[in-house]
Amino acid sequence: MSRSVLVTGGNRGIGLAIARAFAEAGDKVAITYRSGEPPAELTALGVLAVRCDITDSDQVDQAYKQVEDAHGAVEVLVANAGITKDTLLMRMSEDDFASVVDTNLTGTFRVVKRANRGMLRAKKGRVVLISSVVGLLGSAGQANYAASKAALVGFARSLARELGSRNITFNVVAPGFVDTDMTKVLNDEQRAGIVGQVPLGRYAQPEEIAAAVSFLASDNAAYITGAVIPVDGGLGMGH
Ligand code: NDP
Repeated sequence: MSRSVLVTGGNRGIGLAIARAFAEAGDKVAITYRSGEPPAELTALGVLAVRCDITDSDQVDQAYKQVEDAHGAVEVLVANAGITKDTLLMRMSEDDFASVVDTNLTGTFRVVKRANRGMLRAKKGRVVLISSVVGLLGSAGQANYAASKAALVGFARSLARELGSRNITFNVVAPGFVDTDMTKVLNDEQRAGIVGQVPLGRYAQPEEIAAAVSFLASDNAAYITGAVIPVDGGLGMGH
């Protein structure tokens, strides 16, 4: 089975690991990237890289057109692209809040809405949203980010109800702390503090998040929708 898979923000970090897992399983994989050049590794794997900023609906539409021309309508969408702009509430500007919501929540809305068209026609589809453990636990200094990630749960569960009868599933993966550029900004003291709270006592590797996403997109997960799957070393205790 070779499906048309799209992973947003697939040029690095968790998205890259997810794209690699689908490509190695034999799917037709496309990724979006916003800046820079996609890694050469993706070309070697036959992954199509499409430039797209998910805060711009026209760019999202153009990206889908390129993917559809190359691979056919998207059957599996992984909405992974996301940003942080951490600061305490007293210092958080309206732009700090709005830009994080525009990328993490509204950006996810844009890519899901565009994917829905082809999925409705095909009468099947798999959508996986990448949230975060902090969306459900909360995190001081991350009110904007946590709010955007918590919102993905209500979004996915609403769509699971709205589109279940069309054989489209919507699930959320909530990673804990993962070793990527996003967490490299933390200093040693902050990292030690985090690891001290994680029952498994370490960060996740991006491949461990990819494994959960691959499962949710597989035939074995056909009866799972509206779920939040934590991959967090026990930090949220299943929420
Ligand atoms: P990275 O910062 O390493 O990568 C983020 C990706 O998102 C990049 O590809 C980036 O593109 C892309 N991106 C950001 N903004 C946009 C935009 N406006 N349009 C298109 N693409 C965009 O993050 P991670 O790999 O660590 O995180 C991936 C996802 O997992 C995020 O949603 C994050 O919130 C979530 N997550 C991460 C955790 C962690 O500990 N790392 C924990 C829990 C959740 P570009 O390269 O151009 O910047």
